[in-house]
Amino acid sequence: MPATFDLVVVGAGIVGLAVALAAVRKGKKVLVIERNAKAVGASIRNFGFITISGQKAGDHWARARRARDVWAEVVGEAGIAVIHTGSLLPAYRPEAEAVMEAFLATPMGADCQRLTPAEALTHVPSLRAKNMRAALWSPHELRVESREAIPKLAAWLEQRHGVRFQWNTAVTAVDGTRIDTSRGPVEAGACVVCPGDDFSTLFPERIAAYGLRICTLQMLRVMPATPTRFGAAVMSDLSYGRYEGFADLPEAQPLIARLDAELAEMRGLGIHLIAVQSADGSLVVGDSHVYGDAPEPFARERIDTLIMEAFDQIFDLPGRQVIGRWCGSYASAADRVVMVDQPADNVRLVMVTGGTGASTGFALGEQVVDSLYA
Ligand SMILES: Cc1cc2nc3c(=O)[nH]c(=O)nc-3n(C[C@H](O)[C@H](O)[C@H](O)COP(=O)(O)OP(=O)(O)OC[C@H]3O[C@@H](n4cnc5c(N)ncnc54)[C@H](O)[C@@H]3O)c2cc1C
Repeated sequence: MPATFDLVVVGAGIVGLAVALAAVRKGKKVLVIERNAKAVGASIRNFGFITISGQKAGDHWARARRARDVWAEVVGEAGIAVIHTGSLLPAYRPEAEAVMEAFLATPMGADCQRLTPAEALTHVPSLRAKNMRAALWSPHELRVESREAIPKLAAWLEQRHGVRFQWNTAVTAVDGTRIDTSRGPVEAGACVVCPGDDFSTLFPERIAAYGLRICTLQMLRVMPATPTRFGAAVMSDLSYGRYEGFADLPEAQPLIARLDAELAEMRGLGIHLIAVQSADGSLVVGDSHVYGDAPEPFARERIDTLIMEAFDQIFDLPGRQVIGRWCGSYASAADRVVMVDQPADNVRLVMVTGGTGASTGFALGEQVVDSLYA
């Protein structure tokens, strides 16, 4: 390893890789240091759903648009398959339909469309048409298989852009231009720490000031009994009541009140439905949001049951089988969707605190690198 780099990035999740990409695009010599032998955190456990419609209005929605464009630029070169595009949000309750209409009237809805139930079924034939009032079609989204995409992205950064990776190495301290690791010190002009939900190793006192919590999510892989095509990612009424781009609209209040009354247990566990498809025809289905001071190690069967209840309410897939289950976790803040802290002029501490790093990380990486090399 050369002794000095322009930039050391701590963490090889999507945020760290995004920072590395933005820096090499500025001609910087970059080293990424990751404590594990490969990325194993939130970035490979998620839906790989690069979401725009539903992101918080304003800067974050703009970040998602930019990040989606970066994904579109890199997937071909990095050999990452886009499995489907767009998202579909059927509205079954009149209150959800009202949120959909309100969203379509905002600038965020400009390229989106209201579909009839029959039109929605041309994208995702297994949706239940009964009681569906309409569906929101958003053309922006991409879906990648994160557990394959993230390693491919790292390999492409290494081979195509000369980013160096130091795996199985923990960074233990960052002090100016000196970065201490479990394999010895490294010198760098700058350092960006992208630690995911590790609050205790680097800059713990600065992280503590943000009052972050850890959000644990449960996820399932479901195999339909007979092959079925998902031509888009699918969400549900619950998502209109949870994703800020919808739920922050004043028109969402009646829906939220109805969901809280009808589906109190699901709402209490932060359950909303997302279903996306993989290349083998299986579906990634989730999720729940349970907040605490550490990742929850043990999945709760009741949560999985409720997620599958929400799934069966909108999909007609008799005989579907759950073939995989896992948990994931991320840093969460009540008052911000991203956190960028500046421990020193040449050091940044970066977290996505709203559970949207796959959707926004590439844009955040550019913003952080721009701030370092302004
Ligand atoms: C189940 C689940 C589903 C999700 N679905 C979506 C989705 O569909 N779309 C979306 O946009 N977002 C989604 N998210 C959120 C998204 O996955 C996260 O926002 C994003 O992955 C965070 O990326 P990260 O790089 O900050 O963290 P991570 O992926 O956790 O990576 C951080 C890395 O830093 C390393 N590290 C930490 N400290 C050190 C140290 N001191 N030294 C060396 N290495 C260190 C860790 O080992 C880890 O590999 C989901 C999250 C989960 C958990």
